[in-house]
Amino acid sequence: MLTLRQLFLSHNAQTTDFPLLLEVERAEGVYLYDPHGKPYLDLISGIGVSNLGHGNKRVIQAIKDQAEKYMHLMVYGEYIQSPQVRLAEKLISLLPDSLNSVYFVNSGAEALEGAMKLAKRYTNRREVIAFHNAYHGSTHGALSVMGNEEFKQAYRPLLPGINFIRFNEPDDLQFITNETACVIVETVQGEAGIRVPDISYLQALRSRCTVTGTLLILDEIQAAMGRTGKLFAFEHFGIIPDILLMAKALGGGMPIGAFISSKEIMDALKENPILGHITTFGGHPVCCAAGLAALEVLIDDDLIASVEIKSNLFKELLIHPAIKEIRGKGLLLAIELESFNFNKKVIDQCIANGVITDWFLHCSNSMRIAPPLIITEDQIRFACKVILDAIDQEYQNK
Ligand code: PLP
Repeated sequence: MLTLRQLFLSHNAQTTDFPLLLEVERAEGVYLYDPHGKPYLDLISGIGVSNLGHGNKRVIQAIKDQAEKYMHLMVYGEYIQSPQVRLAEKLISLLPDSLNSVYFVNSGAEALEGAMKLAKRYTNRREVIAFHNAYHGSTHGALSVMGNEEFKQAYRPLLPGINFIRFNEPDDLQFITNETACVIVETVQGEAGIRVPDISYLQALRSRCTVTGTLLILDEIQAAMGRTGKLFAFEHFGIIPDILLMAKALGGGMPIGAFISSKEIMDALKENPILGHITTFGGHPVCCAAGLAALEVLIDDDLIASVEIKSNLFKELLIHPAIKEIRGKGLLLAIELESFNFNKKVIDQCIANGVITDWFLHCSNSMRIAPPLIITEDQIRFACKVILDAIDQEYQNK
């Protein structure tokens, strides 16, 4: 009989020849457990999803309760489904006044697609500006605004009218003009290896968009839900986007995304033609119920309050001559090492020793540190020891 691993490799589509191949039996808190009961400390949260940790009881209860009431009823936006309404209401209560209309979708990439369409409709312009090293998802539209040629060249032709500028480079803001429908930017660049822009830069970007009538789309798919030490990353920078993108941790482990704007802008999807964005499963009631519970846990348990302290502990502990830099904000961190080769060996060693980490799509020499926000100081100390031991071993072997 074939093992699960053999079946996985033969029947489940693979996108590399080197998947992590960790078999997970169950997950709880900050740990994943393999079939032998071996715990693995999760330092990547399923790539920015499990901000509350795994198996949060309130989220699970909300999922069960909603599944028993109803699951899918109708394509998005027709029936009044209380989980969608309550989650939108909660999000809006936590956002600035101008962000008061929520469109729920299924994923981050779909949030990006919806927002790009909305910006074109509202401004009646065609040009889009995106950033070098940006990552916004893997659909054709999202690939079109990805700032890394290597990953998109095989899929051309992509969307026309996309221009790229440098992140955190004020000189390039001049390329945003009266022809630009929208600027799409990650508030903190993620797959670029966690790049935090200057406050003055994001403020200048905001001003340039306002002056040119361009919509500013902030992608916080990876950075929202407390990850950077504020509920929304833009709060660090004193700016408000015209459209905000969320997904990943929004569903508390369930798949959901959202693009959020003002009612005035969002109304552009209503006419000429009607039905400006259609999705069958977007805002699935079970996902919305989970999302509402996740937001309530995040706030009621005050999980964001300790993010900065935990971030500083990682930065204090992770000192080694092989570490070139630690970048990031809150619990969205990157450790830069000398090369992909070195990084990959350290990552493999960490995983073998029970600490899961990873590298970044556009920055393969850096290691990802983005644990559930509930990680304790002792768990951080343990993780850092495993990482430092692995780095040291590679460093000595060189
Ligand atoms: N935007 C950012 C910043 C992301 O990190 C990701 C996923 O990693 C996406 C968009 C795409 O989200 P999804 O994988 O849900 O389509």
